[in-house]
Amino acid sequence: MTKFDTLLVANRGEIACRVMRTARAMGLRTVAVYSDADANARHVREADEAVHLGPAAARESYLNVEAVVEAARRTGAGAIHPGYGFLSENGAFVEALDAAGITFVGPPASAIAAMGDKSAAKARMHHAGVPLVPGYHGDGQDDALLRAEADKIGYPVLLKASAGGGGKGMRVVESGDGFQAALDGCRRESQAAFGDARMLIEKYLTQPRHVEVQVFCDSHGNGVYLFERDCSVQRRHQKVLEEAPAPGMTAELRREMGEAAVRAAQEIGYVGAGTVEFLLDADGSFYFMEMNTRLQVEHPVTEMITGQDLVEWQLRVAMGEALPSSQDELTITGHSFEARLYAEDPEQDFLPATGTLTRFAMDLEGAGLDPERVRLDSGVATGDAVSMHYDPMLAKLIVFGDDRDQALATLTRALAALDVQGVVTNRTFLQRLATHPGFKNAELDTRFIERNEATLF
Ligand code: ADP
Repeated sequence: MTKFDTLLVANRGEIACRVMRTARAMGLRTVAVYSDADANARHVREADEAVHLGPAAARESYLNVEAVVEAARRTGAGAIHPGYGFLSENGAFVEALDAAGITFVGPPASAIAAMGDKSAAKARMHHAGVPLVPGYHGDGQDDALLRAEADKIGYPVLLKASAGGGGKGMRVVESGDGFQAALDGCRRESQAAFGDARMLIEKYLTQPRHVEVQVFCDSHGNGVYLFERDCSVQRRHQKVLEEAPAPGMTAELRREMGEAAVRAAQEIGYVGAGTVEFLLDADGSFYFMEMNTRLQVEHPVTEMITGQDLVEWQLRVAMGEALPSSQDELTITGHSFEARLYAEDPEQDFLPATGTLTRFAMDLEGAGLDPERVRLDSGVATGDAVSMHYDPMLAKLIVFGDDRDQALATLTRALAALDVQGVVTNRTFLQRLATHPGFKNAELDTRFIERNEATLF
């Protein structure tokens, strides 16, 4: 861990632009990397220097460890920020950087590995006194044993691939009758996707909320939580609208969840920004789900309510500095929402859309919006092409208000002020969500969209 004056950002799109914005403000030189499809992309235009990695396919460019390390060497970058996705949770990449003497802006490889396997992570969390969803995460994997464990937990149960991620290898089992068929299906899917058929079983919570805690640790043993985000509004396990703080939290529950999240991070020797995801049941019980060992897409809502720059925190911690604030110095000053703008067509089952953005703008003044309270994090500008090679997220619209109602009113107006032409987006869907009476009343759980399909589509 040493000081660095040049930062390579191993990512693209909005997150690459967002990371470079803070790096520049801190006086760092920025290096972008790009594939054939991104030669003229916004993150390349904004960087001080840019290095070509390879063809459009991610595995030959943004996921190519050797090419990324070589780009850092060539440009004299002392550190690499991975953004989210791509190489951000790849232990082998972190080891390659360690070997090359380049600082990884993120946790040690050992912490990534500790959270990479869901069964092993649950065992560690149990040891750290972090509450778990009732269930089974042992080594024994015979059919009869798993069936007996499921019967013991009580149906419905959720079968999950130990090695899983991205919602793959997961199935709800309603009763003992369907157990064997579901187990066979899940094992097949998990083997195909992850080369590993081990399963864990959890009690299936029927109406939980997804509430996650932002944690930060430095290399001097300090750890804090920057409160929580509610990400219950999901479509096929993908987050669509996020907010902070989570509605209806008591000060006591906030502290309990925050402290459990910091314990989780410290148990595995964590350093940097991390997110501990919990399921929150209607009775106020919360259960550890997983820890994401990177900066999340939805980190700006936390920045809005705390007034902190999480990328600046990451870079300072990576330079070996202590955390900028103690727990007592952190407070919540209002409410924030984030809406994810995707190039996709809600009329066609959310099929990704492509094309050229003939216009991409937001007229804040015209809409009477306060620029201090509306933030558009985007990786595109007017004239840019949107291809089918990468994640279809174009931008994130983030707003702040003194309270939830005010923030939601601002979100609605800001969505209307967005002017996007040339590529189909999910904007109308976001507007329907933001003005939905159930959402206004914060009737949140992970099946919100499914339950309200009739009035949202
Ligand atoms: P992945 O790593 O594949 O994303 P997760 O374990 O994070 O899988 O779960 C993804 C989503 O599935 C959660 O956000 C939540 O909506 C739902 N989920 C996970 N575990 C449970 C459970 N025990 N009961 C109900 N829903 C769950």
